[in-house]
Amino acid sequence: MSEDAGRDCVFCRIAAGEIPAQRVAESAQVLAFRDLNAQAPTHVLLIPKQHVVASAGEMFELAAAIARDEKLDQGWRLVTNVGPHAGQTVHHLHLHLIGGRPMQWPPG
Ligand code: AMP
Ligand code: ZN
Repeated sequence: MSEDAGRDCVFCRIAAGEIPAQRVAESAQVLAFRDLNAQAPTHVLLIPKQHVVASAGEMFELAAAIARDEKLDQGWRLVTNVGPHAGQTVHHLHLHLIGGRPMQWPPG
């Protein structure tokens, strides 16, 4: 666990229920909630409930299930931002699930 885990990490505080979030789904190790600053009609964040430990397979499975629930039958995108060039702002592993509108490639 890195030093910003726990009280200083916004996603740890959401997972602990200390900061409100619009929860969409969860599984044993993964929590999904809506992004505060949505970039598309569906913009869901998937995080491991623990600061570092993550099961990639479980995250992808829950993302696919949410995409089905949200009826994103025209397509959807999973994004993970790592580091300053990608614009990462929260240093707790997370996937963005985005869908509900046509998207450009490559991303900006
Ligand atoms: P990233 O830039 O990949 O690190 O993404 C972090 C994301 O977390 C951004 O899209 C923010 O809008 C989102 N975010 C930050 N704080 C919250 C919060 N309290 N509830 C929901 N989403 C948040
Ligand atoms: Zn954290």
